[in-house]
Amino acid sequence: MNREEEYDCIIVGGGIAGLQGAIQLGRYKHRTLVIDKGVGRSTLCQCYHNVLGWPDGVSGPELRRLGRLQAERLGVQFMNDEVSGLSAEEDGFKALTKQGRKELKTATILLATGLMDRFPQLPGLEECLGLTVYVCPDCDGYEVSGKRTIVLGAGHVGASMALTLSYWSQELVYINHESHQSAVSTDLLEQLKEKGILMVDQAIAEVLVTETGDFSGVRLTDGKVIEGERGFIAFGGNKVQSELAAQLGVERLENRHISADPRSKMTNVPGVWAAGDVGVHAEQVTIAMGEGSQAAIWIHKELLKRQQKQPALH
Ligand SMILES: Cc1cc2nc3c(=O)[nH]c(=O)nc-3n(C[C@H](O)[C@H](O)[C@H](O)COP(=O)(O)OP(=O)(O)OC[C@H]3O[C@@H](n4cnc5c(N)ncnc54)[C@H](O)[C@@H]3O)c2cc1C
Repeated sequence: MNREEEYDCIIVGGGIAGLQGAIQLGRYKHRTLVIDKGVGRSTLCQCYHNVLGWPDGVSGPELRRLGRLQAERLGVQFMNDEVSGLSAEEDGFKALTKQGRKELKTATILLATGLMDRFPQLPGLEECLGLTVYVCPDCDGYEVSGKRTIVLGAGHVGASMALTLSYWSQELVYINHESHQSAVSTDLLEQLKEKGILMVDQAIAEVLVTETGDFSGVRLTDGKVIEGERGFIAFGGNKVQSELAAQLGVERLENRHISADPRSKMTNVPGVWAAGDVGVHAEQVTIAMGEGSQAAIWIHKELLKRQQKQPALH
């Protein structure tokens, strides 16, 4: 194997956490490879509204484009592929990819694989994501202030989202899209009633979008139209992409998020770090960025220690 196929760090996932980690590792001049399969939460979100420096918002794809450019300028390499396997080797790890053109060896790994939201493939939905239909109340609750808002969801997850949003909007409708399999408890029903939130037990056929691309409501499977100015999705069952971590014996919580050391972001497996939504945190861009940097700083310390360039900086 030639030297180009050996890295100081392989970052699995080129979303927000992975890119920020890559920029930091590039600035330490470590041989870094980012492998990314191309679809994540940051490719879905068409506008982040709560990121420092972007008062008018920035789209996930644009942030990724800029992040990749910045990392590439620092010598970080990129591969468009899916990591299908990770295994421990003497002095490091081996990564296998789906296209599998090369055997990739690395001293350390940063897992930044994120999670994927579960939502039905409804016509009109994806084009509104991040713009007028949101997923995270901490990120975008503000955007529904004083606006008639429809929660597209399932069972208690959707009901709880509607209750959370009542902090910002007083005109809320909750559509329980999966009412046939996801009932809402009497207690939650009572709370919805108290807040004046209308609940509709009917599947959604399509999301209605104006000519200018804004959410304007939903059409139900019985043909009825419910109008709204903003939407929120809350179907539950999001998929944490931590299978690779399990292959390496990395500790995961019951909900499959990776638990890492709060100070260094290193997992229980020496040489393996985790950052971003795959870890345990508030699932936000700025936090994913922070964790990416934090992990990279500690990966650098570890690489220095291994190279015996200077004593460990603990
Ligand atoms: C619709 C929507 C709106 C949002 N709005 C906001 C907002 O307004 N403000 C905010 O702060 N946050 C928002 N978020 C959340 C934000 O997008 C995430 O917190 C952020 O993207 C997390 O970054 P990440 O790097 O952990 O994961 P991601 O950005 O999802 O990146 C993970 C990457 O890993 C790759 N990957 C996964 N597995 C593999 C594999 N085996 N091999 C190779 N690559 C792999 C994926 O392709 C993906 O590119 C929103 C999310 C969504 C879906």
